[in-house]
Amino acid sequence: MAESSQENGSKQLEKELFKYTLECNYEQAKYLITVENVHVDCVDEDGTTPLQQAAYKGDYKLCKLFLDCGANVNATTHVSRYSALTFASLSGNIDVVNLLLEHGASTTSVNSINKTASQMAAFVGNHHIVSIINNYLPIEEIEYFTKIHGLEKEPKLPAVLSQPVHKLVVITNINPVKIAMFIQATPVILDNSIKVARVLNILSEKMFKDQCNELLSLKYHHLAFVLNACEKFYLEQKSKCSETTEKFGKDVLTPLIKRWICGDKNGFPIGLEKFLRQDVREYPYLECTLFQQLVRTLATGNIGEEPSAISIINEAVTGQRGFNITTSCVTCSDPNAEKKCSACKSVQYCDKTCQKLHWFTHKNFCAELKKTYEEEKLKEVEEGVENNSEAKEL
Ligand SMILES: [Zn+2]
Ligand SMILES: [Zn+2]
Repeated sequence: MAESSQENGSKQLEKELFKYTLECNYEQAKYLITVENVHVDCVDEDGTTPLQQAAYKGDYKLCKLFLDCGANVNATTHVSRYSALTFASLSGNIDVVNLLLEHGASTTSVNSINKTASQMAAFVGNHHIVSIINNYLPIEEIEYFTKIHGLEKEPKLPAVLSQPVHKLVVITNINPVKIAMFIQATPVILDNSIKVARVLNILSEKMFKDQCNELLSLKYHHLAFVLNACEKFYLEQKSKCSETTEKFGKDVLTPLIKRWICGDKNGFPIGLEKFLRQDVREYPYLECTLFQQLVRTLATGNIGEEPSAISIINEAVTGQRGFNITTSCVTCSDPNAEKKCSACKSVQYCDKTCQKLHWFTHKNFCAELKKTYEEEKLKEVEEGVENNSEAKEL
């Protein structure tokens, strides 16, 4: 009798936990778990755990609480075998997705209709989540290189590099401009570029040969290729002013970036295009299907015309379809760039840094673009008036 009433009592508390989770009530949920000892992996009538429910609500704080209290990140008790990562992918919250991945969420486990979390994210149009999951690599894979293995005298990477290299590896925007900006802001990578590039190449080989992950294999080759170019440029600059190394500020790679984004007579970044075509040509695993596809697509396009190499490679490597050139930053390709050039209103940037970086070449086209923009606006207005007058006559 006493036992069953205790059981009823704990069922009641579990119900309350689900209620508070749905309401995103952190304090009450914390109280129930830490004071009332409600089991963190209890399930509701659909087999959903509190963590899964919080992931679906996109509530970072609650997810963190449940994980810190030992919630099973890969529980599949849900009736449709949805994991916490699947729920988070449906909600579209980037921070929650990253949190779950950092806690070891499986990217390959499938639900009852055989779909992974990333496929479910694609299904509901959360493409930013697709690319985060597809680009993810656990930090342990990098930390492995900071330890001595076999006959090595020293590890392949100094320990201080595991965090910055991991950040580089999971980058979702693979435009060389963006990568060079990251490297420039992370001098420890530039100072150890030979070691880092070597690790990236090892990872590329491992992904292709051991894990059959062509996408990440190509991506790591690409990162190494960009890093090598940055290193080469950095050394050139250094030799030019040998005694003034302290002069190397945070802008050391800016001239290289400008070389890439400088427009031809139509404003097309020809330097970047040639650089990327060389990048693809140097990929070593010729039997890779994704690589062959990339080569074929690049061969059909002319240099200086859309689709550009960056949009083709971006689509292939991030696994994202419909890379949108009209809403991405003209300097670095970050999606959803919201700032427009105030003069011509025809190009967009993520921020002032990207705009400033682009001005030396954009200034040659800005006036012309402004003219076209104003003509089009005028035409729209005139057509609008015409339409209105037609409407009136009718
Ligand atoms: Zn940008
Ligand atoms: Zn402009």
